[in-house]
Amino acid sequence: MERRTLIKSIAIMGLGATLPLRTLLARSAAAANKRPYHRFQLGDLEMTVVTDGHIVMSPVQDHFAQDVPAAAVTKLLQDSFRSVKSVDLGMNMLLVRKEKEVILIDTGAGFGFGPDSGWLPLSLKDAGISTDEVTKIVITHAHPDHIGGLFSKDGQLVFPQAQVYMSATEHRFWMSDKPDFSKSKFSNKALLAKILVSTKQTLTALKDRLHFFDDKETLFGCVRLQAAPGHTPGHTLVRVFSGNEEIVHIADLIHSDVLLFPHPEWGFDGDTDFTLAATTRRTVLESLAKDRTMVFSYHLPWPGIGHVTKKDDGFAWIAETYAFPD
Ligand SMILES: [Zn+2]
Repeated sequence: MERRTLIKSIAIMGLGATLPLRTLLARSAAAANKRPYHRFQLGDLEMTVVTDGHIVMSPVQDHFAQDVPAAAVTKLLQDSFRSVKSVDLGMNMLLVRKEKEVILIDTGAGFGFGPDSGWLPLSLKDAGISTDEVTKIVITHAHPDHIGGLFSKDGQLVFPQAQVYMSATEHRFWMSDKPDFSKSKFSNKALLAKILVSTKQTLTALKDRLHFFDDKETLFGCVRLQAAPGHTPGHTLVRVFSGNEEIVHIADLIHSDVLLFPHPEWGFDGDTDFTLAATTRRTVLESLAKDRTMVFSYHLPWPGIGHVTKKDDGFAWIAETYAFPD
């Protein structure tokens, strides 16, 4: 519904007095399945960010900073004007258009995480992009919120024209007889066992279109891969470049702006190797801050674009802001 028509309808229905316009507009957008997208240019590349939805993690210390006194975590959340009960993870999806190639980085959660996620196909449609147009998919790592969108519930490929690229190390890890999670703080072993089965199934079903990359490899003349192990053994950052311009997709290097930038070592339970993930987090943040690189993050608040800066003994996230919605 056009904004003007909506305002007129509100007046006719006499609803304007009871509900704020903002709420009504939001409801109207949701009803029409309109989801936001953010488009920008990086050199010759057309970049589009769409949303796959979000995942609410609660209670906070089941997932973050498990070994830190509760009072310190609560204080930091309160000082940042955030909920002390949960951390809301965005699911930002980055798409790169380079001439005839449409490159999607990760595929979202698919149908496995309930109605608050798995929105990628709808979001692409709202951004004017068909799932048939996607020619390449780069997988940052094989967790279910990143590969879950490859297949529909009835087992069909969601992106039927796409070839899929992932780290050889990552593939070897998940397909091995007994992937090692002994250095993780993830406590739900039953869920972990399920994830293992479904990941093996997905990667097996995908094998005819799967290609493997190694650290520092360049793909499609616009994507440079950088190993960032810890979250998973083959967890990879995707550096998208055109001419002198670059944005670094940091995948799952970090899951909370207010907790983990100041304290990279507080850690996250989803990391396969908790200590290595913390070391990698600090090392990569250090270099992103030093190089003043533009960053894209999968899980930070929408649209996940910003810069990293040094602050005290840690870092801070300076989210990019936009003067108007596009
Ligand atoms: Zn993730």
